[in-house]
Amino acid sequence: MTDAVNTTEAMPPLGDMSAEDFRRFGHEVIDWIANYFEHIEELPVLAQIEPGALKAQLPSTAPEHGESMENILADVDRLIVPALTHWSHPSFFAYFATSTSAPGIFGELLSAAFDVKSMLWRTSPASTELEEVTLDWLRQMLGLDAGMSGFIYDTASVSSMHAIAAAREGIELRIREEGMSGRNDLPLLRVYGSEQAHSSIDKGIITLGLGQKCLRKIPADNKFRMNPKALAEAIDEDERNGILPFCVVATVGTTSTSSIDPVPAIVEICEQHKLWLHVDAAYGGSAAIVPEMRYILEGCDRADSLVLNPHKWLFTPFDCSVLYCRHLDLLRRAFSLVPEYLRTPEQEKVRSGSDYGVQLGRRFRALKLWMIIRYFGHEGLTARIREHCRLAQLFASWVNESPAWKLMAPTPFALVCFRACPTIEGESNENREKRLDGLNEKIMHGVNATGKAFLSHTKLNDKLTLRLSIGNIRTTEKHVKQVWDLLNGQLQSG
Ligand code: PLP
Repeated sequence: MTDAVNTTEAMPPLGDMSAEDFRRFGHEVIDWIANYFEHIEELPVLAQIEPGALKAQLPSTAPEHGESMENILADVDRLIVPALTHWSHPSFFAYFATSTSAPGIFGELLSAAFDVKSMLWRTSPASTELEEVTLDWLRQMLGLDAGMSGFIYDTASVSSMHAIAAAREGIELRIREEGMSGRNDLPLLRVYGSEQAHSSIDKGIITLGLGQKCLRKIPADNKFRMNPKALAEAIDEDERNGILPFCVVATVGTTSTSSIDPVPAIVEICEQHKLWLHVDAAYGGSAAIVPEMRYILEGCDRADSLVLNPHKWLFTPFDCSVLYCRHLDLLRRAFSLVPEYLRTPEQEKVRSGSDYGVQLGRRFRALKLWMIIRYFGHEGLTARIREHCRLAQLFASWVNESPAWKLMAPTPFALVCFRACPTIEGESNENREKRLDGLNEKIMHGVNATGKAFLSHTKLNDKLTLRLSIGNIRTTEKHVKQVWDLLNGQLQSG
């Protein structure tokens, strides 16, 4: 026996926290969270700290001895909360506003307790089968056809990357086996997306080793939607030049304006040229559960894959992104690799998560989504999304009715793009646009600095544009009115 094995008396107690303490602190943490939500409006939405402020308050090395849970929880209040930007705040209107929900938090809690690694069916039959069933419920709620099978990844960026990998596998160039480097027999491969497509598509292409030049950006029309005629021309031109198109990415709910690409026209072109159509509905897709909004997925019954993020607009705690795919066989062919130590007798009869992506272990994300859908029901989720869209229309109507403000894009979902545009007589156009960019930036920073609301921006036709996104489960008309007053207050003082 070595000395190390002989010195057990000197060691701290082993094992986890006692059940008694777990119960006590567990109750305390749930109480803390309930309190947090009850009083969240007293906190500034955007963290009001300088970069480095939290780091400066934390020790630079890990504690040698364990600390009490009381002290750790006290530090959450003292150090962590002031350094948070509160995504759950009802006046969070930046980027795409999202939110967690109580059943989702319970799902996360249970999933952390189960701590399964859903890589093979047998390592978590519950995760594997609940995922299939829950995603099939969601598919039906969205009005998608039964040919689409769902699979959960962490983010839309990763879902889209996998969809493009499956599309590439489908062109039979043995890229899985032989790669793309050092080959003279490969033409330039091409993926198309609109100039408004999310940067995750560029990143997916970079990750897959296709190179940025593989992505051809198609111009959008004056409502920020992909121009299908320009797409058809680009494909024709590429084919004439010996380039091999294999995938088109259309977006339902673009990031800057939430515009909807004309999927029915795009899918027609894809079918003509035998190209994979991937639909990025990461933001907008959830709205299709609202019966009168199902039209947004028109044409998607002919798409090859579609991503939507319950962590964006289905009140699911981050992370949870769903990829619906018509060709799971290709996804499997692109990624399945089963070493001896992962072989199981049932593997041919069941679905194993690790066959469909780069990850081996996967979190049990279906649990929270299942709990959310059961708790709110299709009706409850629909009502919340419908209300967010109503609030966005209301805000857009205030912008429209005010001569000092202007809508910068249509509002098909719950995102309003707008800008202050007070006029000065005799000012040149160029000076005016520059002045308005500065003014709008100042208004946005002014509102954000109050801590009472948080907005973000984009550029549309080179003009700085403010974005108000409504997607938080706690946001009501009162909060939307408050941010409108804040904006007008800033405009008057600017
Ligand atoms: N696609 C669209 C249209 C988005 O708006 C976003 C993020 O806002 C993404 C993809 C990326 O989402 P994720 O953070 O899940 O990767």
